Amino acid sequence: MSSLANNYNRRKIAFKKGKGSFLYSINGNRYLDFVQGIAVNSLGHSNSYLTKKLIKQAKKVWHVSNAFQIPEGEKLAKRLTKKTFADKVIFQNSGAEATEVAIKIARRYFYSIGKPKKNRILCIKNSFHGRTLATIFASGSKKMTEGFLPKVEGFDHFEFGDHKGLKKAITNKTAAIMVETIMGEGGIKVIPDWCLRDLRKICNKRKILLILDEVQCGIGRTGKFFAFDYSGVKPDIVPIAKGIGGGFPIGAVLMNKKAASSMIAGTHGSTFGGNPLAMSVGNAVLDQIFKKGFLKNVQKVSKYFHNELNKIKNEYPKLIKEVRGVGLLIGLQLFHDQTKFIQKLIDNKLLTIRAAENTIRILPPLTVTKKEIDLAIKIIKKVCKEYRV
Ligand SMILES: *Cc1c(COP(=O)(O)O)cnc(C)c1O
Repeated sequence: MSSLANNYNRRKIAFKKGKGSFLYSINGNRYLDFVQGIAVNSLGHSNSYLTKKLIKQAKKVWHVSNAFQIPEGEKLAKRLTKKTFADKVIFQNSGAEATEVAIKIARRYFYSIGKPKKNRILCIKNSFHGRTLATIFASGSKKMTEGFLPKVEGFDHFEFGDHKGLKKAITNKTAAIMVETIMGEGGIKVIPDWCLRDLRKICNKRKILLILDEVQCGIGRTGKFFAFDYSGVKPDIVPIAKGIGGGFPIGAVLMNKKAASSMIAGTHGSTFGGNPLAMSVGNAVLDQIFKKGFLKNVQKVSKYFHNELNKIKNEYPKLIKEVRGVGLLIGLQLFHDQTKFIQKLIDNKLLTIRAAENTIRILPPLTVTKKEIDLAIKIIKKVCKEYRV
């Protein structure tokens, strides 16, 4: 019997190694891994460049306290601010921490300008911002919060797509609107660009902050550095995590000057956040993603993937409801529960993962090749052909 707690329903597969888009199980099977740790291994498994940079740093210094300067972190923050809307960065270790710090920053900003009662965060009902106490109540999900009362106060909710409900839910106590640019766990639900632009306008008009959670959809996943880059919108605060570490645990909050202004010494801290080892890996990930043509290639291969998936959808219109997502953040929505379909894909050596609304999440590494996409398409076609509801 396992000594690990039972908070996960784990599949009975373990891996001995990974390379690029593939994972090799201990019993000798090769899997095409289109989960990649849930959009974490942006450059695939055991990327040789990342490994080289990790080992190089490991031989120098792993960890020092944030009581000292950390040049690797200075460098990563500088690169992130140079390429994006942001002026300042705080490093963390995970997505939940990053979103929770985003909430702290929003509250602290209004506190610092003499409006401490402006402290509520408006979120989408059944969204996902992590699993800490605050972030589960931010999600407004009954399932995630069950058994974890008392409620962490300060969150209000509106339904995805309910523009009237959103406007009604904003009060003079609202400090920020926080949404995932693309809802990952929620079923790869994309907020259209025009809605993002509207959100920005609403936030400007009501003088509140806009937080876009890019923990899953950011760092090149959609073919742009941020998913919101397609809309031209500039948010105030952006938590990131998953893809930035390429498999090493890193979280971060990017923010503009205004949002950063209240985060003076002593307002936030993290023992591990931004340590030299993590920062070196983060820099190595950016070395690759910022390479000329890298994101263009993500756009190109993902367009091909979406086209092929839509062809399958047209061939099986009673099985597949919708191909969702942007770039390599892809959702295949079925008309019924997706559990069996995912198992069939695994039986055929393709790994995918579920999301809400009967959706199968397909998350290849950003380095995926056309040949690997063709292999996935072949497997998905085979499963569709043999599938009986
Ligand atoms: C995964 C995720 C988080 C939480 O990240 P953890 O590293 O698991 O804490 C937060 N927001 C979004 C949108 C995510 O997809």
